[in-house]
Amino acid sequence: MPASISRRAMLKAAGLGAAALAMGGRVDLAKGAEPPAAALKPYELPPLPYAYEALEPVISKEILQLHHDKHHAGYVKGLNTALEKLEAARKAGDQSQVQALCRDLAFHGSGHVLHTLYWQSMKPGGSAEPNGALREAIDRSFGSLAAFREQFLAATKAVEASGWGLLVHEPVGNRLLVMQAEKHQDLTIWGVQPLLACDVWEHAYYLQYQNRRADYVDKFFGIIDWPSVAQRFARAMASGRTPT
Ligand code: MN
Repeated sequence: MPASISRRAMLKAAGLGAAALAMGGRVDLAKGAEPPAAALKPYELPPLPYAYEALEPVISKEILQLHHDKHHAGYVKGLNTALEKLEAARKAGDQSQVQALCRDLAFHGSGHVLHTLYWQSMKPGGSAEPNGALREAIDRSFGSLAAFREQFLAATKAVEASGWGLLVHEPVGNRLLVMQAEKHQDLTIWGVQPLLACDVWEHAYYLQYQNRRADYVDKFFGIIDWPSVAQRFARAMASGRTPT
């Protein structure tokens, strides 16, 4: 989103560290550059970008309200709790729980990131097929939009137990990939930028679709916010960041 791009540019210009950016902390530049550590704040639940009923009939108001206000909020709380416990452990000089806390950090942190992306992946009424640079990248990476669609739907429907179907940009090889995530954090390639996310935990569809996950996934594809996906793709291409 443009606001993020400009915030990134402003932080760079102000010489602030990546830590403040990564934590999503808001830095008031008008007050002068503070040390990055002072900018660390707890994670916050972002508001839904539309009304609870806006995605009906694909996703019911009841599901969306529970999903955002209870489930996503729970991941934000879990992430902050893990960070609080890690800080307390450092202060106490007690690392006996560090393995479990690392797991909590990955699970709740990835849950927060992917849910934020999930809300942004959908648009009431859907949107026109992707075009421009994103469409070219899809064609280059998958052969065609139809071939991408077939692979994305199959991969998403086939996620074992609870997880996600994802379209990601992989920066080392500069290509788009379809990936599954089990739970929230498993099966990734480090450094990929997720562009599109479909939640296939049962809490995302069961109240409305019961065991018909495939119907839900097919309908999800019809309400994708492609301009939002294209914005994230453009950001990924502009950043040039790779993990290697
Ligand atoms: Mn979910």
